[in-house]
Amino acid sequence: MASQPNVSLKSVSKEQAPVIIDRANFDALLQALKKRGYQLVGPTIRNNAIVYETLESAADLPVGYTDRQEKGTYRLEKRSDKACFGYVMGPQSWKKYLFPNRLKLWEAQRNNGSFSVTPTEPETPRYAFIGVRPCELTAIDILDRVLLKGSYVDPHYQARRKGIFILAVNCTEPGSTCFCASMETGPQASKGFDIALTEVLEKKRHYFLAESGSKLGEEILREIPCQPAAEAEIDSAAKALEKAARSMGRTLDTAGIKELIADNFDHPFWDRVAKRCLSCANCTMVCPTCFCTTVEDTTELAGNKAARVRRWDSCFTLEFTYIHGGSVRQTVMSRYRQWMSHKLGRWYDQFGISGCVGCGRCITWCPVGIDITEEARALRESKAKKSV
Ligand code: SF4
Ligand code: SF4
Repeated sequence: MASQPNVSLKSVSKEQAPVIIDRANFDALLQALKKRGYQLVGPTIRNNAIVYETLESAADLPVGYTDRQEKGTYRLEKRSDKACFGYVMGPQSWKKYLFPNRLKLWEAQRNNGSFSVTPTEPETPRYAFIGVRPCELTAIDILDRVLLKGSYVDPHYQARRKGIFILAVNCTEPGSTCFCASMETGPQASKGFDIALTEVLEKKRHYFLAESGSKLGEEILREIPCQPAAEAEIDSAAKALEKAARSMGRTLDTAGIKELIADNFDHPFWDRVAKRCLSCANCTMVCPTCFCTTVEDTTELAGNKAARVRRWDSCFTLEFTYIHGGSVRQTVMSRYRQWMSHKLGRWYDQFGISGCVGCGRCITWCPVGIDITEEARALRESKAKKSV
């Protein structure tokens, strides 16, 4: 049995003077951001899924919809209420905006027999991320550690990240594939946001409890219609979050996980999971923290123009470790082991944190339903049996 998560929710801070935004006034918050020059990006429905796209107003949110998720399954369904954020999360993460899946690094042009190379200037869009879940805040923090705070700074990520406004939304209804409580990344946001909301639906009322996390967030809350939160409203939001923490769909026991994986490098467990894995790379594409890329060089047929494009890659592809006529990780077993042992183990050594935030996307979008929480448990149990 996996151990139960050690969930300790911070109480909603009274020092930050939480305020109430009635549902009828919620769009005023989004419009205040637009007025300050932000491009709103957030959840909306496309092709029967909730994806992150440009929003014009609160009317673009997936109002009255939820998503049912299980291993290898995602279904959009109507809710019986008009919740604005009554879903868990879709296949996309915020890395779509911070670390785009294709990015031209430079292009070259032939001029009179020689080439001039023009690097791509980093773009500085002013995005307001609407509806960032607490686990996704940690995922952004992880990308910051990798791409901003290490020995190499990615100038494109740095430029995109600089001007982001983050409107977080706490999770009151975690999905069945969620395990943020055991990764200690949710269901309540504790840092890394400008404003954090808890959506509360009562029989006759629909409102948001809002807390500011930055000076800018505070300023914006002062500009829109809202009132100080009453004790009962703060309690109501806190209870919803406590209930969410207790009703997580899954758990992952992280105690000694790094050592467990490292000590069982040659365990037959890895062959068993590899028999099911298609090595399709879906799990790495949907993961909000996976950051591997490759580069592609293209040349126009006439030979006058060339370009280098960076695109997402995955440790699940055979080509990813191709060097001098062969790939280092030739088997699916070695590729799955690389992914899981990096994510749950060696990431701690490199970045001081787990590479998994418990969002559950890799479980939902794995076509054969491989579940990282079950696999971690299976490894722990196989090890226990072996040592009896
Ligand atoms: S490994 Fe899976 S559950 Fe963990 S952050 Fe990545 S997609 Fe989410
Ligand atoms: S674990 Fe699932 S999603 Fe990931 S590569 Fe294997 S089959 Fe694809």
